[in-house]
Amino acid sequence: MHAELELGLERRIGKRSAAVIEKHLGITTVGGLLNYFPRRYLSRGELTPISEVPLDEEVTLIARVVSNSTRPMRARRGSLTDVVISDDAGGRLPGTLKVSFFNGFRAKAELQPGRRAMFSGKVTRYGGSLGLTNPDFLLLDEDPDTPGIDPEKLAAMPIPVYPATAKLTSWSIQKVISTLLDTVELETLGDPLPAEIAAREKFLPVADAYRLIHAPQTPADFQRARDRFRYQEALVLQSALARRRAQLAAEEATARRPALDGLLPAFDRQLPFTLTAGQAAVGKTLSDELAQDSPMNRLLQGEVGSGKTIVALRAMLQVVDAGGQAALLAPTEVLAAQHYESIRRTLGPLSRDGMLGGFGPDAVQVTLLTGSMPTAARRQAMLDAASGTAGIVIGTHALLSENVSFYDLGLIVVDEQHRFGVEQRDALRAKASKPPHLLVMTATPIPRTVAMTVFGDLETSVLDELPAGRAPISTHVVGLAEHPGWATRIWSRSREEIDAGHQVYVVCPKIGADDDGDFTPGEAEPSAADLEGENGSRELASVTGVVEHLQDEPALAGVAVAPLHGRQDPVLKSETMASFTANQTKVLVSTTVIEVGVDVHNATLMVILDADRFGISQLHQLRGRVGRGGLPGTCLLVTTLEPGHPSRRRLDAVAATTDGFELSQEDLKLRREGDILGASQSGGRSTLKLLRVLEHEDVIARARQDAQRIVAADPSLAGQPGLAAAIDEYLNPEKEAFLERG
Ligand code: ADP
Ligand code: MG
Repeated sequence: MHAELELGLERRIGKRSAAVIEKHLGITTVGGLLNYFPRRYLSRGELTPISEVPLDEEVTLIARVVSNSTRPMRARRGSLTDVVISDDAGGRLPGTLKVSFFNGFRAKAELQPGRRAMFSGKVTRYGGSLGLTNPDFLLLDEDPDTPGIDPEKLAAMPIPVYPATAKLTSWSIQKVISTLLDTVELETLGDPLPAEIAAREKFLPVADAYRLIHAPQTPADFQRARDRFRYQEALVLQSALARRRAQLAAEEATARRPALDGLLPAFDRQLPFTLTAGQAAVGKTLSDELAQDSPMNRLLQGEVGSGKTIVALRAMLQVVDAGGQAALLAPTEVLAAQHYESIRRTLGPLSRDGMLGGFGPDAVQVTLLTGSMPTAARRQAMLDAASGTAGIVIGTHALLSENVSFYDLGLIVVDEQHRFGVEQRDALRAKASKPPHLLVMTATPIPRTVAMTVFGDLETSVLDELPAGRAPISTHVVGLAEHPGWATRIWSRSREEIDAGHQVYVVCPKIGADDDGDFTPGEAEPSAADLEGENGSRELASVTGVVEHLQDEPALAGVAVAPLHGRQDPVLKSETMASFTANQTKVLVSTTVIEVGVDVHNATLMVILDADRFGISQLHQLRGRVGRGGLPGTCLLVTTLEPGHPSRRRLDAVAATTDGFELSQEDLKLRREGDILGASQSGGRSTLKLLRVLEHEDVIARARQDAQRIVAADPSLAGQPGLAAAIDEYLNPEKEAFLERG
């Protein structure tokens, strides 16, 4: 890294400013602060549309003062100054905002009607109106930092808005950065971009780009600066991924060649169905890669129900045939237990478990290892994994625990990868003496650009066809606001399914009357409330509440109803699942614990209560639980929101298509990028600064091509010190760890 960028901030902006920046932004180096880019720019001459200001976030906005009045406070000493500010939208509401100051002497004096000022704070909603309490403000008309500038030029000059905090305003950050720009020798900074690319793209030189992104004179200035940094960001990221991919390919793994006479051929002979063309093709790819002595690193995407498990199982059998062990990591206990049961059932006489012998020496031992198992059983399972007695080990994150070891771990399969952080995948990798082969599976369709950005070090396979006999799922939005009578219709509809011999899932957003839902660690999907800042005063359907209610529901008289949620005792959970699988329980009322992987063919109806509380991909996953056994499935998305409410559009989107890729694009538009690239995927916070994966697909694709070319010619990047340094500099420790470990 360039020495200047690594330099402590106090050397360039002084001890006091450096301390403030470190305290509030956590930034300590020159490079860190230079790369703290404005999130957006305000136009000095324009007021910020108040209706577009996000709620409950630190925001910076420009507005005009309409009125200013001060009164003593009633209950305690001091005064309250109320200032109404406007965006001059002319009666269009909400175009005004009430700003309150406690003992706001400066506000009282300075915020006179007609003045324009920049405000910084959190906009909240009280009752029907928008408010801002004790914000920081800066009068614009006499900005002391810009004396003697031609007023017309000044009006056109964009004001950078930095991600601010409650204690440090955007304009304070701007001031410090402007000092930094004056004291750092920008011209000496190396360029991370290869000269040939900078020339081809006609990018600004680095020094100019830093100046113009922080202190633009015109909007065109920051656009050009952003173009460069955005591309730079994409190239650095893609080069890091390409380098990592090259390193992985150079690693040596144990080749696990298919056996002519082994479990896999025997398994294929007893398969009760024919593999789909996709399953066969992916199976061939995996088989070939496992037979290589460099590690397989593959992502398998396939719609819910596309039959990924069998593909994974066949790969595991090939590894077992070659003398290795395979581990299958599942995100929940319910799913791990279900995989264990169904894999043993599917293998039939080809498998045995730890307790019983007698299946002949050729059968593979399938072992379950979860945190809730009784100690003795868990210890036995660990022993079997360590001694190599267990050929296939299926488990939850308990597999990752330090005292679990393997005799010869050849393949790791991670199911429903969107639930796992990379570091968890990694903890498993570390249990093999040589790099193991890796297969990561997900049913959440990942848009191409996200895949390139997040999984750029994995090869991708897609299963895009459902096995024959899969019936379509029809999805309907049930709006109780406009049709209150449908509340009871849901249960008589359930009764019809049950009378026809089928079963019903009911999903609720909460467990009990007074909790916040079934929290799944590592899950990044925001609720509707997060997305819209809506208050949660409405009583939401809860598992216990609904089970109680159904006891008295005439339509379901005499029907076996059972609750299932994450806080139950694991033994109870597996008994409940077993009873539902055996068609004894007819109605399963649960939280999203059934979201992934659960496979009960006889279930045909899925009722999702307060469906507006769930995200798009969650709803899509949930409804994939029905329509599995050749029986048509129905999914009812029940909501009490008024038609036209923004959250109902999400439900309409889910009802309108079963195309997961289409839905995931929609989802990505609604969700903040950080949630996609965030904790659950990268193991750290998203650090993408200027790059937006949907918007900048072309930039990402171009950078990826460049990166592949550069890394292929020079894998260690010895000839590109600027780029190599930028990779280190750009990637924060968390993110770097993510790439290191992949
Ligand atoms: P997912 O991809 O969602 O994990 P699963 O692996 O659970 O899907 O498969 C869904 C169901 O389809 C399982 O019951 C499985 O046995 C069945 N299945 C898988 N492949 C085929 C096939 N080729 N023909 C018929 N049924 C299949
Ligand atoms: Mg699955």
